[in-house]
Amino acid sequence: MTLSARAGYRGWALLLAFFALAALGSAPAAQRASPAPTQDTEFAGLVKEWTTKPEFMSPLVDHLPKRVGVPTPKDVLGYYIGEPKKLTYWADQQKWYRALEKALPARLKTSVIGKTEEGREIMVVYVSSEANIKNLEQNRQNLKKLADPRALTPGEVQQLLATTKPHYNLSGGLHSGETNPPEMLMELAYRLAVSEEPYIQQIRDNVIVSLVPTTDIDGRDRYVDWYYAYKIDEPYDGGENYGGPPYWGKYVFHDNNRDINYGVDTLRTYLNWYLQWVPPIWHDLHEAQTLLYTFSGQPPNSLNLDPILYTELPFFATYEVNKLTGYGMPGVWHFGFVDTWSPGYLAFAASNHNGMIRMYEIFNQGGANTKKARLQGPATQRQWFRPNPAPAGEVDWSIRNSINYSETGVLTALELTSTFPQMVVENFYRKTMNSLEAGSTKAPHAFVIPGGQRDQTQVDRVVNLLRRQAIEVHRASGEIKVKDGTFPAGSYVVKLNQPYGRFAKTLLEKQNYPDPQLQTYDDSAWTMGLANNIEVKTIEDKTILDAPGERLGADVQTRAAISGSGSTYAVKHTGALNLITLRYRLKDLPVRGAKANFKIGTDEFPAGSFLISTSGAQGDRVRKEIESLGLVATTVASMPDVQTVDVDLPRIAIYTTWSNTEKVGWVRLAFDRWEIPFDLIHKDHVQNGANLRAKYDVIVMPHQGNSGKGIVFEQPKLSKPLPYKKSDRFKSMGMYAETDDTRGGMGIDGVAEFAKFVEQGGLLMTFGVSSYFPTEFGVTRTVDAQRPSGTWYAPGPYVQTEILRAEHPVMYGYSGKTLPVRWGDGPLLQIAGAGFGGGGGADAPSAPPVPTRPDSPTIIARFTGGDPGVLSGLMRGADQIRNRPAIVDAPVGKGHVILYVNNPIYRWQTFGEHALVFNALLFHNDLPAPGAKPATTTAAAPPQ
Ligand SMILES: [Zn+2]
Repeated sequence: MTLSARAGYRGWALLLAFFALAALGSAPAAQRASPAPTQDTEFAGLVKEWTTKPEFMSPLVDHLPKRVGVPTPKDVLGYYIGEPKKLTYWADQQKWYRALEKALPARLKTSVIGKTEEGREIMVVYVSSEANIKNLEQNRQNLKKLADPRALTPGEVQQLLATTKPHYNLSGGLHSGETNPPEMLMELAYRLAVSEEPYIQQIRDNVIVSLVPTTDIDGRDRYVDWYYAYKIDEPYDGGENYGGPPYWGKYVFHDNNRDINYGVDTLRTYLNWYLQWVPPIWHDLHEAQTLLYTFSGQPPNSLNLDPILYTELPFFATYEVNKLTGYGMPGVWHFGFVDTWSPGYLAFAASNHNGMIRMYEIFNQGGANTKKARLQGPATQRQWFRPNPAPAGEVDWSIRNSINYSETGVLTALELTSTFPQMVVENFYRKTMNSLEAGSTKAPHAFVIPGGQRDQTQVDRVVNLLRRQAIEVHRASGEIKVKDGTFPAGSYVVKLNQPYGRFAKTLLEKQNYPDPQLQTYDDSAWTMGLANNIEVKTIEDKTILDAPGERLGADVQTRAAISGSGSTYAVKHTGALNLITLRYRLKDLPVRGAKANFKIGTDEFPAGSFLISTSGAQGDRVRKEIESLGLVATTVASMPDVQTVDVDLPRIAIYTTWSNTEKVGWVRLAFDRWEIPFDLIHKDHVQNGANLRAKYDVIVMPHQGNSGKGIVFEQPKLSKPLPYKKSDRFKSMGMYAETDDTRGGMGIDGVAEFAKFVEQGGLLMTFGVSSYFPTEFGVTRTVDAQRPSGTWYAPGPYVQTEILRAEHPVMYGYSGKTLPVRWGDGPLLQIAGAGFGGGGGADAPSAPPVPTRPDSPTIIARFTGGDPGVLSGLMRGADQIRNRPAIVDAPVGKGHVILYVNNPIYRWQTFGEHALVFNALLFHNDLPAPGAKPATTTAAAPPQ
């Protein structure tokens, strides 16, 4: 871009200022009375200095208006937004928004909507005109009515469409390493509240803007701590990179944008807020692309999303590309990055609920230092969707550059919204009407979760997860007979002629991936029936829409009645995850576990069922706990005649690397939710002489890193150590674990300690990619690991496994011959000397190998493989997993390693696989010796 062109933009800014003054002349009395804004010349000078090239600036943000009586960011924070080496903690952000609210309460309002895991306030900020802020609640109610227009007359709809303002929600800081949007939003709020430029007046008048200033608030503070502790000293020339803190929020890192079931409390708070306010647009600001990518939804596309969405997305995106390109800003593009397949991203809540997710990815260097950056790759290449790419090569990049881009983009998007406000509201309404229509006129018309399934707790969970998303669920009041089947009273029915019917379909149906050649940005499958191992029936018969039943008004929790009056409780193991919670809640009482099926009267109790002898007051307590956990039980006068073991509680450690804490976090979350205590251990705890066996019975090594080597060696040490420790200055560091240096890794000494732990009788459990660790490093000498090859591509499909050892404790509570699991990126396992261990390919015999050595592994389950074995989503190269072991119990010395190729605790999602882990914990010291024969079913005990 040329200098004269730049001058043109400056001129345009002056013109804007002129219009601003002219507009005042015809403004309403209230506005005329407000003092004319003046410009902050100090700001203008500084941002010019901080912006590393003129083309990284725009006429929308090169100036800052002042208004008497309203503090600027510098007045409150001590610095302007975008000053190098300044990042703002959450408490200071709150201070700023509250100062602004105090000065301009008629235009800006803050609201606390909940608390984070670490107890910080979650805040939403609303900015709009005086009239709109006054009318905020009414407008919210209008949008809610349009979100479910079933009870409205056409006249009421017209009235609502004519009087309702679009609500545009912006969020930043979901990913804590993407530091700058929370800074930018502070300046944006000020500009929107104070500026009298005509286009901003128009935004205020026509749009209700809300800000989630920082989404992962705990992570923000931890990242800012880390920044001030280390990153502020990073070399200017891009030499050493001091990374980021090992934790953002309490549990998960980047996956906070993948919590499809909103299992993390903070994330659920945002969903609840969304469902209360239903902003038609939720625009989430990220930083990971060069220089600004604006989401327009490339294939694969979910066909359950409305065609209107696929026109709104590029409508907004191309407008932004057009305007910013016009300002001379290079590197602004759309299309070629993120698809619209997975519904699991946080802000996708909007698209899932007939609104629109919008998303940016802006260039960032993980902090506020001005540093050299090397721009390269596709983002520097011209494409139809990237007409003015970023220049390839080295460039100085500052935090202010990032802010200029994101703020200019957002102001442009808001300006577009304010130009077509009724279009946004009307599209929102139209998409809902289309959803109602689709469920009524096109099959499928419903999904039924049949009553009488084996484990009602799992069914209840699915129903409650659907309800969490505002999906309506009915409970059938009588038997349902439709062409697709007959279902008993009490079955749950999800009728699709409801506002979020298409979203329900997305969650419940099989994901038919449209084109195996297409990559997707996240998972290719999430089918809830498969993820929860419950039966869900697709209903094509339209008469289902008339099936009688009541619509659930609250979450369900089935409380099974406990029959009998004996003092011994028999608790059925039907796969309920709450069984382990019961064991922990009764940790002071002895609990026996049945080694085989048994009967009480005609009632079948599967292996793994609990038997608890009680007396007096303990009996009441046990009864209460069983009932509150929704478990199925009966009482008998005495112990049934069945072989049992003590269900001892293990001392558990979860092993984490420092370089990859995220998937570990989901396991920590699940253990916390099911009340399973554990120590979180890391490289420092497994050094030479650690004597792990003296401390622990079980070590769980969740999915982490990319390989066994990645787990052992993590990241190389740097020229200076990077401690993660609590201090007075950096209070959020050292939480969840502490170390003097996050770099390094356990090394070979650590491997030896793990080997000793197992040989001395410990149980090591490895999930997903962690199953490379015991195989690559020889902890299990009889199991080898290979990697898939060729054009293999498997973004999280659900695949079929065949259960080979139904009697193994890991399989307690599972009744079928098969079990769907999510592909968890574990290794292709091979049992030494046994082909794939029971199968050498398509025509290998199907019987598992007979163990012949003391350390011969047992293959508990294996993948069926091939395309028919892919139950939902995409696996390219599915023949490679044919007959490969899925779960292996490998004895080593006195102990065991259980290798899961799946990741049985994946996000807050694979609940159907969790019991594979919980069983191993409960029966950790009752695992069969190699070659052991299954215990036999015993005779029925008399009923009581
Ligand atoms: Zn991000």
